[in-house]
Amino acid sequence: MDAQDLEFDRRHLWHPYTSMVDPLPSYPVHAAQGVELELTDGRKLVDGMASWWCAIHGYGVPELNKAITDQLSRMSHVMFGGITHQPAVDLGRQLVKMTPEALNKVFLADSGSVSVEVALKMAIQYQQSIGTPRHRFVALSRGYHGDTTGAMSVCDPVGGMHSLFNGYLPENLFLPEPPQGFDTPLDAEYLQQCHRVLAAHQDELAALIVEPVVQGAGGMRFYNPEYLRHFRQWCDEFGILLIFDEIATGFGRTGKLFALEHANVVPDILCLGKAITGGYMTLAATMTTTSVAETISRGAAGVFMHGPTFMGNPLACAVANASLNLLEASHWQTKVRAIETQLRAELLPLKRLENVQDVRVLGAIGVVQCTETVDVKALQKRFVELGVWIRPFREVIYIMPPYVISPLQLSRLSSSIKEVLLRGV
Ligand code: PMP
Repeated sequence: MDAQDLEFDRRHLWHPYTSMVDPLPSYPVHAAQGVELELTDGRKLVDGMASWWCAIHGYGVPELNKAITDQLSRMSHVMFGGITHQPAVDLGRQLVKMTPEALNKVFLADSGSVSVEVALKMAIQYQQSIGTPRHRFVALSRGYHGDTTGAMSVCDPVGGMHSLFNGYLPENLFLPEPPQGFDTPLDAEYLQQCHRVLAAHQDELAALIVEPVVQGAGGMRFYNPEYLRHFRQWCDEFGILLIFDEIATGFGRTGKLFALEHANVVPDILCLGKAITGGYMTLAATMTTTSVAETISRGAAGVFMHGPTFMGNPLACAVANASLNLLEASHWQTKVRAIETQLRAELLPLKRLENVQDVRVLGAIGVVQCTETVDVKALQKRFVELGVWIRPFREVIYIMPPYVISPLQLSRLSSSIKEVLLRGV
């Protein structure tokens, strides 16, 4: 990739959440192997982001490469309408086996946001089918569920995109965010407040959607898993479905295979994505119970009304199967626990710094919350000079590396964070 390519990129290619007038720089990556991204100039960066939670096994993984090339030699894609295939059936089996027993119906979607749309549509069709048409959703403040319209409408109403798309987005209801802290005792007043809101609006609410335990893109906040039990209880009390969005937290990231296991709460609908293919292909799944699936299927439409072109893409399913097999065989619990212990040892002391408001660690997630919004452009440049790939947002510098990261590589990430906090950029 030469200077002309980069200039073309700057002028013509839209990057995530980026201006076309004054885009942030894009670093040209030419290859990725293990836990390293290789820039076109040969520099290698230790990856702290796992490509936004996805690449849990790292890059260039032989088992995943083999699965995808084997599948490619048979067929890359066929429509899923009226056709099925082994990779989809195998993946369905795996997902039903890995998730709580009640979640045994699988809808394969093409991305996390789409799996959230599917979940919302399932809830609406379910409520219609039982004869109580409810058309609103309730979500948590500071939540994030994706960028498509329905998903945006349940993202945090202030930090999300509501003001930009005002008048276009469905107007949903928001509970306050749960108090910060995995170990913070439950707040009785918070519980009462949420209960009051749900009770007042129960007749219009189709479902409550939450990210269990970790609120990711809304600020990397952790909350006490016991709140999930209360959410479950209230949803049962008011006839509201409960949707867990585990697109970021699923597949081991928080120290449990799924974050819902921290409280042993089973939702009516579960969204999975990101790490499902080990970061190789875009794929997501929306899982639900027999009761929800059959109720929808006995409703007016007689079917669930969604069916994307690339549903159940065989390449994505094949690599997802290989990724989930590898996860099971890889002692991920030990690895995630080791990452957690090391992150605690290396990041928690940063709490003492003047420009740090909070440091928190859960599973293979480390978060340093600064007192002020960071200069993403300058910080990213400095991180690249230090040989690491870390992309902060707002006031948050966070890492969620591939589980295969070595202690030395992880130290490189922590010490780079320490360096920029101590000495600036
Ligand atoms: N939900 C959560 C919790 C997420 O973190 C994300 C992605 N950041 C999404 C939904 C949307 O997924 P995707 O980007 O694959 O559409």
